[in-house]
Amino acid sequence: MRHVPAALVAAAVPLQITVPPHVIPSGHVFQLGIEGSGHVPLWAFVRKGRAPCTGTPYEEQGTPIVSGQTFDWDGFSLDVLLRRRELGPYTVCAFLGTNAVSRAVFRIGPTESRNLAVDVTARRGRSARRPGTTVFHLLGSRQARADLRIRWQGGTGSRVRARLGRNGARSLRVPWSCARVGMHRYSLTVRDRYGNSRTRSGSFRTESCVGLRGFFIWPLHGFITSYFGYAERGRLHDGIDIDDNRSSVIRAAAWGRVTSAGWSDGYGNLTVIDHGEGFITFYGHQSRIFVHAGQLVRRGQVIGHVGCTASCTGTHLHFGMHVHGASVNPLRYLRGR
Ligand SMILES: [Zn+2]
Repeated sequence: MRHVPAALVAAAVPLQITVPPHVIPSGHVFQLGIEGSGHVPLWAFVRKGRAPCTGTPYEEQGTPIVSGQTFDWDGFSLDVLLRRRELGPYTVCAFLGTNAVSRAVFRIGPTESRNLAVDVTARRGRSARRPGTTVFHLLGSRQARADLRIRWQGGTGSRVRARLGRNGARSLRVPWSCARVGMHRYSLTVRDRYGNSRTRSGSFRTESCVGLRGFFIWPLHGFITSYFGYAERGRLHDGIDIDDNRSSVIRAAAWGRVTSAGWSDGYGNLTVIDHGEGFITFYGHQSRIFVHAGQLVRRGQVIGHVGCTASCTGTHLHFGMHVHGASVNPLRYLRGR
């Protein structure tokens, strides 16, 4: 190829100019690539505007970025770093020899904020084992950072930070416990690498987990000796009897507030726990009670010992459940074991 005229070389292996895609932010260094082949001088110019390139490098008015260098290999590839501040279109003109022309046009935009948006959709979700998840869908410019602050109702806030992905999007999953029921406030700020930021705030609701399958744990791990339902002569057995030794520990089936703890005719030593949403559990025939009315208890917290107080035929726990005042079969709501 050494003695082939430049114009023919350019036709065979065109000169290519590559500029970064999209708009180049003002004031930032970017890379321009020039590729081609031929043993003739290479010229390249950059100038403002979109006017077509002139016929020869000697007529060009732009700022030279390559000035008549000859590259002594057959295929060359050069990277030129540029920085432009003025907004608008720019044209790059390259010449291989005196008349082979290649042209690229790019645009300098304002300091980047064009893609910076904060799009939030908060969705609620819930399941028994993992009480709930709210998903925030975020959209921002690439490499932006998201800072999500959540103020839980009646509690302190929490914070989730993330870096947005390659396409400027991300989903943030924010789990919440069953204790966090109600409306909550969030504030989300997305900040890009140029220092631009946008904030969006709003609220989302989480629903109670009470009554979801598996929400209640077994208060005692014994055999069931009597099931819920109508026995002979139509008397309702309003719970299940779980057999165990005297002094085995009884655990709260879920978090809640103790509404009464003391003697009750028929049930003996009885603890009643209100779980909200109309759900109440009660624990009868206890030999000992360790909680008092008004106390908040955790799921699994020991509330007393198994016994045989009042009318009973052997040590067992009578475990009952009310939903909005009506007796229900606790087995419908207990977690599998
Ligand atoms: Zn019973």
